[in-house]
Amino acid sequence: MEPKFAYAPWEVTEEGFDPKTLRENESVFALANGFIGLRGNLEEGSAAGAETIQGSFLNGVFDTEPIVYGEKAYGYAKNHETICNVMDAKSLVLFAGDERLDLGVSDVREHRRTLDLRAGALRRSFLWHTREGAVLSVESERLVSLKRKELAAVRLTVRCLEGSCALRVMSPLVPAVIAEGDPNDPRNAAGKDRTLTLAFAQAGEEMLLMGQQTKRSGFSICCAVEHRGAVGVSQAEGSGAVWSTGRRMNPGTELSMEKSICYLAARGDAEKLPEQAAALCHGAPDFDTLLREQRETLDAFWEGVGLSIEGDDALLQGLRFNLFHIYQSAGRDGRTNIAAKGLTGEGYEGHTFWDTEAYILPVFLYTDPALARKLLEYRYAILPKARERARELGHPKGALYAWRTIDGDECSAYFPAGTAQYHIDGDIAHAVLEYVDVTEDLDFLASCGAEILVETARLFYDLGFFSAEKGGRFVLNCVTGPDEYNVMVNNNVYTNCVAEENLRGAAAAMERLRTQRPADYERLCAALDFTPAEAAGWLEAAEKMYYPAARDGVVPQDDGFLDRRPWPLDSIPAEKHPLLIHYHGLTIYRSMVCKQADLILAMTQYGERWTPEEKKKNFFFYDSVTTHDSSLSMAVFSLLANEIGEVGTAYDYFMSSARLDLDDMHHNTKDGLHMANMAGTWTGLVKGFGGMRYRGGVLSFAPVLPPQWQGYRFRVSVRGSCVELTMGAEGPGYRLVSGPALTIRSYGKELHLQ
Ligand code: BGC
Repeated sequence: MEPKFAYAPWEVTEEGFDPKTLRENESVFALANGFIGLRGNLEEGSAAGAETIQGSFLNGVFDTEPIVYGEKAYGYAKNHETICNVMDAKSLVLFAGDERLDLGVSDVREHRRTLDLRAGALRRSFLWHTREGAVLSVESERLVSLKRKELAAVRLTVRCLEGSCALRVMSPLVPAVIAEGDPNDPRNAAGKDRTLTLAFAQAGEEMLLMGQQTKRSGFSICCAVEHRGAVGVSQAEGSGAVWSTGRRMNPGTELSMEKSICYLAARGDAEKLPEQAAALCHGAPDFDTLLREQRETLDAFWEGVGLSIEGDDALLQGLRFNLFHIYQSAGRDGRTNIAAKGLTGEGYEGHTFWDTEAYILPVFLYTDPALARKLLEYRYAILPKARERARELGHPKGALYAWRTIDGDECSAYFPAGTAQYHIDGDIAHAVLEYVDVTEDLDFLASCGAEILVETARLFYDLGFFSAEKGGRFVLNCVTGPDEYNVMVNNNVYTNCVAEENLRGAAAAMERLRTQRPADYERLCAALDFTPAEAAGWLEAAEKMYYPAARDGVVPQDDGFLDRRPWPLDSIPAEKHPLLIHYHGLTIYRSMVCKQADLILAMTQYGERWTPEEKKKNFFFYDSVTTHDSSLSMAVFSLLANEIGEVGTAYDYFMSSARLDLDDMHHNTKDGLHMANMAGTWTGLVKGFGGMRYRGGVLSFAPVLPPQWQGYRFRVSVRGSCVELTMGAEGPGYRLVSGPALTIRSYGKELHLQ
């Protein structure tokens, strides 16, 4: 079978047009810069016979709406926060005489769209045989500037090859058309009122301006669009504004134009927004300059990543596509984060989950640490809300981060698989500790990190207790681990592991500040009312942390896991997956079945706790009870399979995750791309096949080469040193690309790189 996209190392190209794949390709071809996100919608909108999901998003811009419960109880999350689909500025509608271009109806040939991963642009070209007999060559390009937060741009060139016609190009600025979604799929944003109020629509000479407001959250959004390269007329109508141009096309004539798009948003005082948007838009560089800047930014990113695979172009394409998308979608201002679907769709309502710290952040930590810091600053920014939430849940001290949120408030309406996932505190703490370890950024530790560590440690200390039943051990009861098919359990191993690390890490971080940053230490002690006696309590809890004992070598994921009713996976019909939308929760929760990696994740993250034999035994056991209904699962199984020497299994799992969105393996790519899985594939390569670890200040590798590849290469940076690993049939080679000399370990042997 022909692949949907030809395998190419630096691009993703769609040849022809298939209305059935329009929606998923709109996610695949999305462009973003951490603030603006534009779905890969056709310039003319949709096509007859095809379903479309239109989307223009601004990171962090959401509306709220009270959550309506049939039966409400104390402490339930109060409001939805849903990312808004803002005014659409990317469209260009073409007319030849009175024929409107529509891929579903018009005679369009050689249609091609290419997402160029180095240029950071989406290109499109086709031949339009108009009803009047003209043949027009149409080319368009779109980008969202990675260098200039508020800017996007579109360029269009139409050439007449044969015949003649009156060509008209309309560039509308209109409120978004909102897709309905699927009300029976909790992963979808269906049913939330996220329409915006139109504040104004204006037309200047070549400039269009529109203002919108959210109904409840107090955001004002402004968009300015300026047209260049062709003379046109602008007009404001009741619900939008439009600029249009046209000319008589004869063989050899050409019409080309470009538009700069500027989006701004503000909460509260927004009086100056239109003026600012217009000025930024007017001052925007031309398309070629933006393209040049875009290339420079991406060159630097790819340089830091340095990734290549020899002998498998499909895989290489998948991995680079994944990295491109997480890079595009990550918020860069310390106030916004990365949503589960990035800025590519409305799935999960634009919410940020543990996905960021557990999957995505590590990629940036080792390739672009400044970006990793920005994502952590977001957690610091929402720490006050996490403190409030902890009080609401009855914890006199500490902070509890929301399971899913945009602005910091808990938005999970289903607490068993939401708020009960206390591990999110530990995931964030783990990320802070790893960040400080890899970067030695003590400024961050002193200004944000320590406070996060202290407050999350306090939460775990208050959540657990020394149980007489368990011989005085410290237990964490009634929590949900990462695996959402086993909820409100006692002593989920993963949760206890992250909590233990959190408790120890917070104590160690405060001690480090005491000796290395005494002034910051004093300030924090006063601000947080912290004393060393408190840390002594944390250390005791960490020391006495309880872990359920293994039975015949199988480590129960939680106290009761091995007591649940077996549900052999081969007895579940394929069409009943994912289980969460085909079975009642109670059926699932009483069964011995997992949605995703949980204990397996603990074994990769806290590997020193278990022997290789224990890991092997548990790998195969959990492999037999896991449905992988969550896209976060397979990459982690691949990672552990590599660690236990099961390279073939590691390869299979890896390959099933590497192109998950390109090949729409979960059949929901239309709702947006799966950011955590995309990042997980980097980890699968770098930590899985490359065996990269950073422990105790030492960078080590233990690379293996699956027989299917001729070789691979990647780069990681630690403490300012960038190291490149090249693995081939002849074994590994290491090179210090930049930064200070360092000693690494290869299969346990020391190597000095300079
Ligand atoms: C997974 C969670 C994840 C969420 C968002 C769910 O299906 O079970 O672990 O955080 O999706 O990606």
